[in-house]
Amino acid sequence: MNYAEPVQTSRKRRCPPGVTLAEKLAFYSLPAPNGCRLWSGYKNSAGYGWLRWGGQRRRRAHRLALELKLGRALGLGMESCHSCDVPGCIEPGHLFEGTQADNINDAHRKGRLFLPPALHGERNASAKLNATSARAIRRDARRQVDIAAAYGVSQTTVSQIKRGQTWRLA
Ligand SMILES: [Zn+2]
Repeated sequence: MNYAEPVQTSRKRRCPPGVTLAEKLAFYSLPAPNGCRLWSGYKNSAGYGWLRWGGQRRRRAHRLALELKLGRALGLGMESCHSCDVPGCIEPGHLFEGTQADNINDAHRKGRLFLPPALHGERNASAKLNATSARAIRRDARRQVDIAAAYGVSQTTVSQIKRGQTWRLA
């Protein structure tokens, strides 16, 4: 499933009333070069997108995106898990329904767990990135300033990744 692109994109605009959930999700997100669709609206400290929908309190954007894809609410105790490991990603193809245990097993399989905290890049200055996007940045042939803009990080972070000063595990 692909979202229709909004007519114009700007982070500061407010979404007009009366839109569908798909339109609202598209409105507050932008496609990234690595195939992710990154939330550009409100995010919590963990990097997950949140939005108001259906007159309810703020809900997690990646959960709503998965519910939209599935056409139903997630099961009791089920989570919206990211195959891409990017918390702010709402690309439906990167989301799957799983238990918290599935999520942890997935992390385990990908080697995200059991890394010493000092080396675990997701805890440091480039916390907006994960190993997948760090690898993509390292391979990205564009100018560093353009890469930085595409991923929402500083050019310094891009430079450090390129020189292997951070994300050595990527
Ligand atoms: Zn993604």
